[in-house]
Amino acid sequence: MEAGDFKDFAKAMTDYITEYLENIRDRQVVPSVKPGYLRPLVPEQAPQQAEPWTAVMADIERVVMSGVTHWHSPRFHAYFAAANSYPAIVADMLSGAIACIGFTWIASPACTELEVVMLDWLGQMLSLPEPFLARSGGEGGGVIQGTASEATLVALLGAKARTIQRVKEQHPDWTDAQILSKLVGYCNKQAHSSVERAGLLGGVKLRTLRPDNKHRLRGDTLKDAIKEDLKNGLIPFYAVATLGTTSSCAFDVLDELGDVCNTHDIWLHVDAAYAGSAFICPEYRYLMKGVEKVDSFNFSPHKWMLVNFDCSTMWLKNPRWVVDAFNVDPLYLKHDHQGAAPDYRHWQIPLGRRFRALKLWFVLRLYGIENLQKHIRKQIGLAHYFEEFCNKDDRFEIYEEVTMGLVCFRLKRNNEINEELLRNINGRGKIHLVPSKIDDVYFLRFAICSRFTENSDIDLSWEEIKSCADEVLKGVSK
Ligand code: PLP
Repeated sequence: MEAGDFKDFAKAMTDYITEYLENIRDRQVVPSVKPGYLRPLVPEQAPQQAEPWTAVMADIERVVMSGVTHWHSPRFHAYFAAANSYPAIVADMLSGAIACIGFTWIASPACTELEVVMLDWLGQMLSLPEPFLARSGGEGGGVIQGTASEATLVALLGAKARTIQRVKEQHPDWTDAQILSKLVGYCNKQAHSSVERAGLLGGVKLRTLRPDNKHRLRGDTLKDAIKEDLKNGLIPFYAVATLGTTSSCAFDVLDELGDVCNTHDIWLHVDAAYAGSAFICPEYRYLMKGVEKVDSFNFSPHKWMLVNFDCSTMWLKNPRWVVDAFNVDPLYLKHDHQGAAPDYRHWQIPLGRRFRALKLWFVLRLYGIENLQKHIRKQIGLAHYFEEFCNKDDRFEIYEEVTMGLVCFRLKRNNEINEELLRNINGRGKIHLVPSKIDDVYFLRFAICSRFTENSDIDLSWEEIKSCADEVLKGVSK
């Protein structure tokens, strides 16, 4: 493809994208295709001769859109929000054009340096303590990971390296394998599955602990688990505090967990994948009280801060535990400025990395902090608007206190009826929700996902839920 065609293709795609997003609510939110739908729609083999771009454009609706779940439709209430905005889309175009692989500073200095500065901007927006910021002149700093799962694993590996070194100083005769077999980490039973997975990938024990009646992990519970493990000769080394659990958006009591971890020299990592974006609004920062006590902090602007996937930001007070743990230094990756700026390949699992800081830069500049705060507040407002509908209909109950853009609700009936309600809602295909279950209580999750969502969209979703409830409850005796 030559430049002229590129311009025409890109222009046509920009028009298409705009049309798609602005009218997304008119599409069926989940497609009705069956597995294997796509193969018959495309040729068996790649074309021998080049096709015109217009042929590709012509196939997008038929082949792709017919099988797309529209995450940015105001009818989509499943999982958590996934961010999307025009500035981020344009930034990804530029990132694709530069197409550098920024594994070291010299591999593309702008890629590293913009990331360092953006993580400082964002860290200040959240009011993270100075030791997490590169501008403080200390060791701390931030990095963009692909996902929250990677951040949890990277933190666990850093914690492992730190503890192994400490234990070896105390017990020079112990081998790495002996120490590893004694390491134990902790998280809330309601923590995301990626935490348990990080334990598996890191080859260490990870205990899931029982939360309180508000589904929050408390300091005393962690303290008791540590006491028990120490008695059994284990070495507590890592804990994850979840701020905004996936099941019900509960918040672990960070302040308490921080005290316990600091007392026992345990690395405390914060997984605020979804809810962390809300901390750009000062009124929600009470939920991260105690953040100065943690070792690493992660949230994903790609969930709720209008930066398209993938962009999961992580700050470390002492990156050297991660940097040193992963440091392999082949000659072809060495450069003259090593040590003067981060070589981000040491801060992550893969070697290669895209120029993701561009989309943070574009979004932060083109929205401004004020509009990002408005976006968060509006979405939380919409969640409360939906909550009110549930509260006013005495057939329903709210399962968890609504603090962010998620409402957990259910019919005041048994699990089976609520399962049927969800089957009914998703079966009709107008809106899309997913369920969750805590302590054998099944409930529905209503997440505000699209930046296009307005009160009128919530009205429509509520009408649909109410009508499905009418149907499900018809003939069911009290
Ligand atoms: N942690 C929490 C609290 C989440 O809600 C999620 C996903 O929803 C994750 C981690 C995993 O996120 P990612 O897909 O970025 O790894």
